[in-house]
Amino acid sequence: MIGVARGVIAEPQLVNNALYGRESESRTCIAANHCSPYNPGHGCALNPTVAKEERWGVRQNAKAPRSMRVVVVGGGPSGMEAARVAAMRGHTVTLIERRARLGGALALVARMPGREHMHRAGDWWAHQLDRLGVEVRTATDADAETILALAPDAVMVATGALYAREGMSGFSAQPIPGWDQPFVLTPDEVLSGARTASGQLLIIDEEGRNAGVGTAEFLAAHGCRVTIVSSYDSAAPHMGTARHYIGLRLREAGVLLSLGTRVLAIGDCEVKLELLATGEQRTVPVDGVIMSTMRRQVDGLIDMLTGKVAYIYQIGDALAPRSLIEATYEGHKFARLLGEDVMPKTVIDELFRIAPGFRPAETLTAIDAA
Ligand code: SF4
Repeated sequence: MIGVARGVIAEPQLVNNALYGRESESRTCIAANHCSPYNPGHGCALNPTVAKEERWGVRQNAKAPRSMRVVVVGGGPSGMEAARVAAMRGHTVTLIERRARLGGALALVARMPGREHMHRAGDWWAHQLDRLGVEVRTATDADAETILALAPDAVMVATGALYAREGMSGFSAQPIPGWDQPFVLTPDEVLSGARTASGQLLIIDEEGRNAGVGTAEFLAAHGCRVTIVSSYDSAAPHMGTARHYIGLRLREAGVLLSLGTRVLAIGDCEVKLELLATGEQRTVPVDGVIMSTMRRQVDGLIDMLTGKVAYIYQIGDALAPRSLIEATYEGHKFARLLGEDVMPKTVIDELFRIAPGFRPAETLTAIDAA
């Protein structure tokens, strides 16, 4: 007997695909653990139909009633899933990606030590887009002119989110004084190779997820001396059971932790810290600071396209920075609405759609009174 759990959550056809020589059609579970009992009801980060089979599973390959010309902007998980589902449902799809390769934020995560396997998800999506005949334009900036030249019936804006440099977070709505120093970087810049850091580095991690600890490991592997400073009292507290492995990995990589601590100010190659429990302050020298504090959506296209395209769906992190599972879910969900008889103009129209038979509270009160 061979036991498989997450493998068949990510790819329900895993066994059939292996049996009939279609292995390359199978998604490979990336151990993102959104399906764990600690995230009840969430389904799978790669396969949005999981736990929604009654609603989506059976009609997965059904053509839409009306075929549309669709432009997807952004080749991260949300955009790739949207393009895949739209093409599968009979639409003509062009996907435009600014970077040279597909993958988006997931491709950056795959650059972190121990997360290299994450690239398999992007490879699978790229293979599916190729198989389904999606026109993929990489290394292309999608401005309004480029998009409108394609005469789209619908545009899906999946441009993702980028780390903000100012240092605002769930712990503080104020920028950290000194954030605009030239040696202050973001995880996106470091992992993409757009900027390099060396020497004694401080990562301010107020998110408590993968980016802070993963960037720390990445930099330690490149010979930097790294300390993570966080207001949280453990490393990566929002990573579920994986945080225990992460703690071990950080220790092995020689990354130091300064927990329960906040950054008061960034000076000239130094940072002023405060221990939250006691208020004790100290100043430490640094060669660089990396802000893993907050992401901000990249959504500049929306204003430029509004009124010029009939249907515009802002999906994934471009709508609001969240995690992988929300990104793929929205890509999938809104691609399914393309060409349907009842088709919302925007994501907001759909999210606030009044369900058939719904009666406002005042109507009910009037009926009760009668
Ligand atoms: S949520 Fe992640 S770990 Fe769970 S099956 Fe899907 S890809 Fe695998």
